[in-house]
Amino acid sequence: MRLVLLGPPGAGKGTQAARISAKYGIPHISTGDMFREILKRDDELARKVRRYVEAGDLVPDEIVVEIVKERIHRPDCGRGFILDGFPRTIPQAEALDEILEADGTPISAALYLWVTEDTAVMRLSRRRVCESCQAVYHLDFNPPRSPGVCDRCGGKLVQREDDREEVVRHRIRVYREQTEPLLGYYREKGVLREIDGNKSIEQVWEDVQRVLDPLAECGDC
Ligand code: ADP
Ligand code: ADP
Ligand code: ZN
Repeated sequence: MRLVLLGPPGAGKGTQAARISAKYGIPHISTGDMFREILKRDDELARKVRRYVEAGDLVPDEIVVEIVKERIHRPDCGRGFILDGFPRTIPQAEALDEILEADGTPISAALYLWVTEDTAVMRLSRRRVCESCQAVYHLDFNPPRSPGVCDRCGGKLVQREDDREEVVRHRIRVYREQTEPLLGYYREKGVLREIDGNKSIEQVWEDVQRVLDPLAECGDC
């Protein structure tokens, strides 16, 4: 299965993508996580992307497309993948289609997790992430077993710089302007599947599986 996850910041894409990856055995490719790893370094690429990520702006398309292209051609993507946070612009979506068409393996589905702006802001303001393994928590809805410590690896939980409220509002605006047009793009292709992301993590997961189980059984998807 080759999947794309769409939805505003805070919709729950990363949370559901981790479950999808585990259940269906396909790698979770988060461009946001990839950029945060790149920013831990001090090379030319890190210098190029830092200001965009810190301001909550989109990294230029050509940089992102190159990184994703290399990633989806690695051997672990042979049975598919789930893209979380990519594509985010029409040119990125077109570039992805071109890459996949050349390989003869089109997108199986684009899952759109929709949430209200209030839901998104409430989730992001209390999101915490593991510095070491990038696992995602929420202080109220998905708290770690011991405060400030990652259940999975024992790493330290921190708030992302771009989860501060001013940056969050800006990121939501960027989403509306640059990413929302992708809904029409995938709807026209007949692969858009909408899921109400305002429900609890477990309820959303039930709905996601209801959409993906039949696709997982289809040999061509
Ligand atoms: P995205 O990748 O779309 O930005 P995340 O998966 O990081 O979203 O989720 C944002 C925050 O909301 C995290 O703190 C996560 O634990 C929490 N969260 C995710 N899904 C839900 C949900 N259905 N209900 C409540 N909180 C959620
Ligand atoms: P979110 O919580 O909004 O889902 P992400 O972790 O996906 O955030 O992305 C964090 C930041 O990384 C974005 O604000 C942007 O600067 C950069 N980024 C991630 N994916 C892309 C992309 N596909 N195109 C451009 N920039 C991206
Ligand atoms: Zn961790």
